Amino acid sequence: MRLKSIELSGFKSFAKKTQLEFGTAITSIVGPNGSGKSNVAESFRFVLGEQSMKSMRGKRGEDLIWNGSASTPRGGRAGVKLVFDNSDRALNLDFDEVSIERVVHRGGGNDYLLNGSQVRLRDVSELLSQANIGASGHHIISQGEADRVLSSSARERREMVEDALGLTAFLYKREEAERKLEKTAENMREVAGLRRELAPHLKFLLGQVKKIEDAAKLRDELAEKYAEYLKRESIHLVGERELLAAERGPQDEHKALGVRIEHLRTSLSKKHDAGTDELIALEGRGRDASRRREMIVRELGSIEGELRAQARLVGEQGGTVPAGEARAFGEQILELAGASKLSELIALARSFLHKLSAAAHKDDSAHLEEKKKKLEHELKTLETEEERVHKEVAALRKKIEGDKDASRDAERELFAAMARRSELEAALAVLRARESVLAGEESRFKEELREAGILLGRMPEYESAEVVFEDEPRSAQEDRRRKLERLKIRLEEAGLGNSSEILKEHKETVDRDAFLERELADLEASAASLRTLIEDLTKTLETRFGDGIDLINKEFNDFFKLMFGGGSASLSIVKETRLKRVSQRSDLESPELRSDLKDDDEEDVDVEEGVEITIALPHKRIKGLHMLSGGERALTSIALIFAMSQVNPPPFLILDETDAALDEANSRRYGDMIENLSRKSQLILITHNRETMSRAGVLYGITMGSDGASKLLSVKFEEALAVAK
Ligand code: ATP
Repeated sequence: MRLKSIELSGFKSFAKKTQLEFGTAITSIVGPNGSGKSNVAESFRFVLGEQSMKSMRGKRGEDLIWNGSASTPRGGRAGVKLVFDNSDRALNLDFDEVSIERVVHRGGGNDYLLNGSQVRLRDVSELLSQANIGASGHHIISQGEADRVLSSSARERREMVEDALGLTAFLYKREEAERKLEKTAENMREVAGLRRELAPHLKFLLGQVKKIEDAAKLRDELAEKYAEYLKRESIHLVGERELLAAERGPQDEHKALGVRIEHLRTSLSKKHDAGTDELIALEGRGRDASRRREMIVRELGSIEGELRAQARLVGEQGGTVPAGEARAFGEQILELAGASKLSELIALARSFLHKLSAAAHKDDSAHLEEKKKKLEHELKTLETEEERVHKEVAALRKKIEGDKDASRDAERELFAAMARRSELEAALAVLRARESVLAGEESRFKEELREAGILLGRMPEYESAEVVFEDEPRSAQEDRRRKLERLKIRLEEAGLGNSSEILKEHKETVDRDAFLERELADLEASAASLRTLIEDLTKTLETRFGDGIDLINKEFNDFFKLMFGGGSASLSIVKETRLKRVSQRSDLESPELRSDLKDDDEEDVDVEEGVEITIALPHKRIKGLHMLSGGERALTSIALIFAMSQVNPPPFLILDETDAALDEANSRRYGDMIENLSRKSQLILITHNRETMSRAGVLYGITMGSDGASKLLSVKFEEALAVAK
């Protein structure tokens, strides 16, 4: 890799675009004081990404921008562009030419461009570190700065040496790894924190899930118990229903009995009425006939008496009937008539009439006889009538008696029917009670089915349940029902609620926790590999640093001897311990451990390595650097800078009046060393030194006109001598 050119536009005193080309190994820049030479050196720092304004002699970014003069107005930006020949691909970019440009704006912003494309400062720094152009700027030695290598602290010196040895890339890597490790540790703390936050919720959800699972078990148990219970119940109900249906007999019989009883009752009352009325009528007729006959008998008696009286008259005159006999006759008649002994009466009447036949009748008695005959005839008719009535009454009575017997049978049947009916009513009452119990059970069954559907979240499949039926009391089923009730209560207590949501949330939380766990493991793994990387890098750095120091020491001692004509110089690694806050340590394994420690806990852990310089001047007893003269300091620092450059040559080296303090003899030695150095690095030397100028292949003169702007011109050696004044 070779430096081709640098272009300054609006940078400090370079108001106009100015390009310096570096075609040779040694380029010298000469010019009077204040013409702008050091501004060129600073432009290198600037374009390489220098962040310290102080090292560019400014306070703010705008101090780097052309500030204007009477004739040229001030600029809005300052830009510097470096162009490298990258044919050897020393810079890891597939371009033969690589340009790096930095622009600062008056507003304050900075732009970095790589081959014209905007990039980050970090990209520029990383790219350059590959080619041993480090940020510490060990390859740019500003005016009076050579001494810095002597005056700086052991730690700063160490950084310069590291930079010179090209260890910056490793340091970058290590710093990056440390940053990553810190970031990883932070992430681990965050993830661990999230897991800790999640833990109680997860525990709670786990409890809920356990409850849900228990409840689900309960529900399964309930479903099983329900199936058995409902199956048994349904079969019981169907059986009962069938039984009740089969027992329609009593009901039908009861109905038929009702009809029969009604019929018996009506027929019984009808029979009774008819017979009696007829009998009463018949007996009335009998009584009428009897009364009429008695009247006739009495009339006949009186007729007989009259006839006898007539016959006595006749007897006195011809045949008569004694009065005593006639009276006795009359009384006999009355007696017989009263006893209704008709035949005897008739016989009596006939004998009396016979006794009278002999008597003589007068006309009058003929009439009586007539009447008597009529009456006797009527009497006969009446007697016949009476006899008939008697017969009829007797027949009727007999019939009534017969009827009564029939009624008694009917009554017996009625009573039997009524007794049966009340028996049946009792049986029906029992059936009705059973019916109502069954209806209650049926509606309870329906209700239970509905409730089971709600509790189980589906209709219970009880029909297919396998149940062994044994003869068991109804109370066994009641026991099952009670068990079901208890299960229901337990299930309700378990409170299934919106279980699907809880399960979902639990799953999500478990997933999240598992994710975090994996994340933590990944982070742990990457932290471990980062720690290994850091360890490896540290080892590499230590080895290379130690080896580098040895190599530098050899060169340093040689250069020193050359410059001073003897003596010795060496670098040594020293260890400095520094207190470091524990909480900032990234090397502790666990983030928890670190976060547990208090912020103000300090530990004496950080051992820093530094680089010390030991010199021994020839013929002098000077040991400490502070005892050296200005020239001796310059020579020592040059020896060290050159030694470092020799071990790991940078692509280019800018030395701004490093030779200022050298006398003629040392200037020559310096010139020799420069030539030697230029074989490995391009040199840009800002100098007033004639000897140094004489070694340069190209000489640039810088002047400043009355407009305050620097101007560049190529000059020859002789011109250079003049310009430098
Ligand atoms: P010496 O030989 O004395 O070291 P030099 O050639 O190195 O001098 P520089 O220090 O590079 O000179 O230049 C300083 C000059 O640059 C000063 O005159 C200063 O006014 C000018 N200068 C610095 N910054 C700006 C700026 N922003 N705008 C204009 N001019 C500037």
